[in-house]
Amino acid sequence: MLLSLATQEGIIAAEHIPADSPLALRGMTVSYGEKPAVFSVDMTIQEGAMTAIIGPNGAGKSTLLKAALGVVKPLAGHVTVFGQSLKSQRHRIAYVPQRASVDWDFPTRVLDVVLMGLYRELGLLRRVRRAHVEKAMSSLDRVGMTDFADRQIGQLSGGQQQRVFLARALAQSADLYLLDEPFAGVDAATEKAIISVLKSIKDEGKTVVSVHHDLATVRDYFDHVFLINTRKVAEGTVGEAFTEVNLHKAYGGRLATAQMDQLNLAAI
Ligand code: ADP
Ligand code: MG
Repeated sequence: MLLSLATQEGIIAAEHIPADSPLALRGMTVSYGEKPAVFSVDMTIQEGAMTAIIGPNGAGKSTLLKAALGVVKPLAGHVTVFGQSLKSQRHRIAYVPQRASVDWDFPTRVLDVVLMGLYRELGLLRRVRRAHVEKAMSSLDRVGMTDFADRQIGQLSGGQQQRVFLARALAQSADLYLLDEPFAGVDAATEKAIISVLKSIKDEGKTVVSVHHDLATVRDYFDHVFLINTRKVAEGTVGEAFTEVNLHKAYGGRLATAQMDQLNLAAI
């Protein structure tokens, strides 16, 4: 009885997941204590698009990414990556965590941070070959950081560290990039550099999903949005889903009308 139910559920769930979606979550619930941080969330990411995950502080945005990566264990729900199990496709995902969550209290060279992105290619012996160094250097080049290859990561500015983390993700040659607030606390030049790299990743047909804080840049930077406040509020193209009504649903009274007026929202 239980088995047949499980099988049936599996079939029902599979029917609702487009096989070409790089990342799909179904019924995702995550809780650290009594109150869920993410509740029963369905999310379907479009291939080749740039999707912003938007919502107020504590809305569960970081938790959602961690659940997608299998870093936190959900109470319920499941993840598919390119229509298959997370485990079998995990190597196709690159993750750039929220910078504040990374604490470099031991000395690590910038080049070595980027080489960490190549751990799968380095093999069991972790032997770094010339080709690996070249790949890492070319990733650093894409983010304008080759001059810093020998520096200690802890000595760099926040913006420079963020570029290095992006270089590490690039070195992985992933198909799906998950980033958690990559623009938080970075200088304007770094923001420009990062968005231009993300757009070039997208132009290569890859998929970018990023937690994003600054509502004013959503229209310029992203094609799709996913609004969350513990539960899903809305998902869709910026034109469909980045609306005043949905922002009110997600943020409640936390967004002033004056702020809304500046967002040039879809007129729905
Ligand atoms: P966001 O990224 O949208 O700001 P988070 O996913 O970080 O939100 O957090 C969602 C909720 O879960 C918050 O209430 C937060 O305090 C809580 N939370 C996040 N991480 C932990 C943790 N490791 N232990 C306990 N509670 C956590
Ligand atoms: Mg967060």
